[in-house]
Amino acid sequence: MSMKLILGFGGGGGYYPYTQKPADYQPYRPVYLFRGPPPDAGFSYGLFEDPDLNRQYYADMGLEIFSPFTGKPANLLYEVEPPEDRKLVELYEDQETDMELVKCPHCSSDYRQNIRHHMKGRDQLFCHRCGGKLQFK
Ligand SMILES: [Zn+2]
Repeated sequence: MSMKLILGFGGGGGYYPYTQKPADYQPYRPVYLFRGPPPDAGFSYGLFEDPDLNRQYYADMGLEIFSPFTGKPANLLYEVEPPEDRKLVELYEDQETDMELVKCPHCSSDYRQNIRHHMKGRDQLFCHRCGGKLQFK
């Protein structure tokens, strides 16, 4: 299965009528939501979906999976395997400046995410490992 495109928010909004190529040219950089430790650190990752919001995101795999958006159980769509895991590393490195460090006050997990960066206004987020509510300053 190929990487699923998550439609970009903002994304620069560049539409340049004189330089735009026809057909399959995409003016928006695709946005992939990410939550977890750096993907080259040896963790297994999956593509998950929040069943309420129908929003997809990449996160590290675990026995129990909670939606970062609602704190409720999320669905695993598939486990990321080679060579797609390479894309995840590239995504992480490409968006490294967008990846904020999060520390869960409930289970003491450390990880990074670009979720707030790409979902402006959504400051109520939950730990995908324990379902606890996260706090942002
Ligand atoms: Zn937690």
